[in-house]
Amino acid sequence: MSKKLLVIAEIRDGEFRNVSYEAIAAAKEIDSEGEIVGVVCGDSVADKANELFKYGADRVIAVEHANLSQYTPEGYAQALQAVIEKEDPDAILAGHTSIGRDITPKLASRLKSGLVSDATAIESAGSEVIFTRPIYSGKAFEKVVVKDGLIFATIRPNNIPALEKDDSRSGDAESLEVEIKDLQTIITDVVKNTTSGVDLSEASVIVAGGRGMKGKENFSILDELAEVLGAAVGASRGACDAEYCDYAMQIGQTGKVVTPDLYIAVGLSGAIQHVAGMSNSKVIVAINKDPEAEIFQIADYGIVGDLFDVVPKLTEEFKKV
Ligand code: FAD
Repeated sequence: MSKKLLVIAEIRDGEFRNVSYEAIAAAKEIDSEGEIVGVVCGDSVADKANELFKYGADRVIAVEHANLSQYTPEGYAQALQAVIEKEDPDAILAGHTSIGRDITPKLASRLKSGLVSDATAIESAGSEVIFTRPIYSGKAFEKVVVKDGLIFATIRPNNIPALEKDDSRSGDAESLEVEIKDLQTIITDVVKNTTSGVDLSEASVIVAGGRGMKGKENFSILDELAEVLGAAVGASRGACDAEYCDYAMQIGQTGKVVTPDLYIAVGLSGAIQHVAGMSNSKVIVAINKDPEAEIFQIADYGIVGDLFDVVPKLTEEFKKV
């Protein structure tokens, strides 16, 4: 019997996060014949929610409420629990984003279910579903087999390609009314604190700077390179601790985990805690003046040189392409 697969989709700044589409593709991996139900929470999201049809959703549920205009754990948990109780799905998938990581354990405990977090691949074998997920800060991968019960997982961005957009698919989101009550938190304002327009955790190209940048103002040369490449700018903790940039840009064990197609590491040494957040990047380029720097051990391409010479030259060359 085919499964009902619920995908919790996320809208940020008016657009779906790409990992929401990737989660739909992941649901197809679980059961290619299954019914995929996209769920979107927010204030006025029904029109936007219809976009999920084009990426493979068979049904879409929009849970609209004034108290869902911004994410709060209690608000979203109430809304999503209501959807789950009504739909009784066989599987629930969400992106492994800051919201996904926050809400899914809360829901799993309410549903008395297990949770596979941070899956990078999924395969279905008969009645079992096998998830691959990184462990030991990305040094190894383990397989987690869900044999029965609710299949509940978060999907790491940039690992399972989204289905191609199909403009011929369309539909109307179903509206679900829910009661959102007793909220402990009301968000009245959101102050953004990012330097790059590109979302770090979903970027396909990242330029990351370390302590070798030697000053906050010097990050402008990374911004220029990033602009030419359509990249996001990240940083090592060394750079964040030195107050060259905001901790929102930190990549690593205690920062963001990223899997871009191209990672350019500039003036950072490649400490194990940094590598934990970026070692699964598809191509790694390191720029460092120290030929012994550890980052060269995991780099596909290395440039030994002064970043203040190398980076502007790269920017100029990429402008010509
Ligand atoms: P450094 O190690 O000082 O390296 C600077 C590099 O710049 C050097 O290799 C140098 O050769 C090069 N350089 C200097 N000048 C130039 C130049 N002009 N041109 C070219 N190259 C130049 N770190 C993280 O990044 N992310 C984490 O999530 C993280 N979590 C941590 C968690 C714990 C519990 C602990 C203990 C540490 C954590 N760290 C983390 C810190 C980590 O151990 C390192 O201290 C940090 O990554 C070092 O940052 P860095 O590489 O920028 O600085």
